[in-house]
Amino acid sequence: MTPASAEQRLAQVYDDIARSARLARRSPDEITLIAVSKTQESDAIRPLLEAGHRDFGENRVQEAATKWSALKADYPDVRLHLVGQLQSNKAGEAVALFDAIHSVDRPSLVDAIAQAIEQSGRAPACFIQVNLADEEQKGGCPVAALPALLDHARDAGLRIAGLMCLPPADLEPAPWFALLAELAGRHDVTGLSMGMSGDYETAVTIGATHVRIGTALFGERGSGDVRT
Ligand SMILES: *Cc1c(COP(=O)(O)O)cnc(C)c1O
Repeated sequence: MTPASAEQRLAQVYDDIARSARLARRSPDEITLIAVSKTQESDAIRPLLEAGHRDFGENRVQEAATKWSALKADYPDVRLHLVGQLQSNKAGEAVALFDAIHSVDRPSLVDAIAQAIEQSGRAPACFIQVNLADEEQKGGCPVAALPALLDHARDAGLRIAGLMCLPPADLEPAPWFALLAELAGRHDVTGLSMGMSGDYETAVTIGATHVRIGTALFGERGSGDVRT
């Protein structure tokens, strides 16, 4: 049964994360819960802020800028995560607004982010998104291009926080999470942004450090939601 209030849902997800972490002999403190508030109105977000939650994810720069200008005035210590594809011409805005960018996936975007960091003095944590199954409609760099992209991002001075993936829909997610973890280990990257409402417990047992959860906290989104 889905708990009624936003606070109860939040507590439930934290409980699930803690239980999965303990099963995998990990500390729950290693895992950051990102509440993905894309398409949600401020009224739906405020109860989570009031409950003390501070990490939120958005997938569109413009929507996030509009919505969060007022919310950030009330909660200046909030941390915003960009979890959607980013166009290079929006890199400046993204660097100004977000504390972490989970969708760095090509050299031209690395360059645009590096330039924005230089101009603004703000340096968001960056996750390299990997397109593990070479799905055409999805963002993320191909597995074969990851080593060169990581080198490029490191040379450009980006703060590499980890790798991110969105496993193929309708397939068992665990092998994809394990593959991302293996790639991270191979390339000396510590963070793993993986796991959404349907599979975050699995992701936590396989090493996720950041889970991105929308539906389990806010309920189903309306149509018009685009998967990245
Ligand atoms: C929407 C979205 C999520 C959250 O998905 P839910 O299934 O609602 O938990 C996570 N990651 C990304 C990249 C998303 O776009």
